[in-house]
Amino acid sequence: MEHIVIIGNGISGVTAARHIRKLSDKKITIVSAETDYFFSRTALMYVYMGHMKFEHTQPYENWFWEKNRIELKKGYVKTVETKSKTLYFANGDTLRFDKLIIATGSKPNKFGWPGQDLKGVMGMYHKQDLDNLEKYAPNNKVCKRAVIVGGGLIGIELAEMLHSRHIPVTFLVRESSFWNGVLPEGESAMINREILNNGIDLRLGVNLKEIKADENGQVKSAILEETGEEIECNVVGLTAGVSPNIDFIKESGIETNRGVKVNRFLETNIPDIYAIGDCAEQHEAINQRRPIEAVWYTGRMMGETVAQTICVNRIEYKPSHWYNSAKFIDIEYQTYGWVWAQSKENEARFYWEHEDGKKCIHINYDKNTRKFIGINSFGIRMRHEFFDKILTEKRSVDYVLEHLADANFDPEFYKLHEPEIVAKFNKENNTNIQLKKKSWKRIFST
Ligand SMILES: Cc1cc2nc3c(=O)[nH]c(=O)nc-3n(C[C@H](O)[C@H](O)[C@H](O)COP(=O)(O)OP(=O)(O)OC[C@H]3O[C@@H](n4cnc5c(N)ncnc54)[C@H](O)[C@@H]3O)c2cc1C
Repeated sequence: MEHIVIIGNGISGVTAARHIRKLSDKKITIVSAETDYFFSRTALMYVYMGHMKFEHTQPYENWFWEKNRIELKKGYVKTVETKSKTLYFANGDTLRFDKLIIATGSKPNKFGWPGQDLKGVMGMYHKQDLDNLEKYAPNNKVCKRAVIVGGGLIGIELAEMLHSRHIPVTFLVRESSFWNGVLPEGESAMINREILNNGIDLRLGVNLKEIKADENGQVKSAILEETGEEIECNVVGLTAGVSPNIDFIKESGIETNRGVKVNRFLETNIPDIYAIGDCAEQHEAINQRRPIEAVWYTGRMMGETVAQTICVNRIEYKPSHWYNSAKFIDIEYQTYGWVWAQSKENEARFYWEHEDGKKCIHINYDKNTRKFIGINSFGIRMRHEFFDKILTEKRSVDYVLEHLADANFDPEFYKLHEPEIVAKFNKENNTNIQLKKKSWKRIFST
């Protein structure tokens, strides 16, 4: 019987396994060095914050795997020998495969800072990071201050986590404003304010120089590059982005760049070896999307795709329009299509911000054709189906504004803000767009 081995028990590896089982009788083994069972990485923060127990982050009961004949092997794969189709483990074990799926995810970036491996320094990615956080930052008596290095989605989550236990946080952000390589100025400024309003000591335009240890080899302070200031702390969180976790295959002959290089079918350069999820890098960007996308739903889609290819017929990975969502402390964020940090030559932008400074929308469109390109929405929940349809149908900005009532989830929002938004657009653009009443059923029954 053909043996499919999957390295990685994250969302992409587990989705592949589940779908291979649905589609075939093949022997399946999932390998992971991290945990016995699959858990939701995105929920890790809520465990620390006391909203749930770690067990609650596991979507499947422990009997699920045996019942579905999915073998689980705990262990770290040290090398892959492609000729003999063998995995070599750190503890000396070996495992033969007929087909291999590499789904090894990401690892936090480290930039060679002196002290980056001290006790009390951690990323916020793996279950072990959570365990370390419990050990070194259980409360504000043990951890009098934490310093977080790197201002992206994971950095702000870590700040919120520590803040929930009343641990003072200094947040070092290299850029001049929070995540401004991704967010336009207005949104980025809004999040700066949100961070500061929560009592977090946000330092913009600042780099870490080194981390100093006490006599026990534990974090004592962080030194800033620009000013030489020494910040006393007991924990340093390294959240300066992630990169594909693929060092172990560097000598295997499997082609890599930043990630494992794959074609549209998620195949590597070696027959019978595939890569999916955060660790996969497309040869060319599809649909203006990035070659590596470290987000949950793309891992799931790739898992389903590769299962089809292995069990039924070879199909391409075809992601639809880009979307993403996150939460910046209390402000929910969604993005559909593209609203880049800086606008491009052919683009026009429309920005509306509520007077409370905690809600905004930012629409991007083609200034010549008026085609809608994308929207950022902060503090307002929008409907994915709506924008997916709008982008597929290549609708205009005018159409989007007319149908704003169909776009958002919140009826209160409609009453309160939509007329104001459309009026602002009309005034700035000398247009006469009229809001249409909610027509959700009409739009989505067609
Ligand atoms: C704190 C945090 C919050 C996030 N929030 C969001 C969010 O809100 N929305 C969103 O879309 N995405 C979010 N993400 C990103 C999302 O979690 C990832 O994109 C997704 O988990 C990647 O899944 P994956 O299956 O590709 O890899 P992973 O989940 O990283 O799983 C890979 C597994 O492979 C194991 N492994 C690696 N190398 C080896 C080896 N050599 N031997 C054995 N095992 C190995 C790893 O230990 C790991 O268990 C978040 C990530 C983090 C860390």
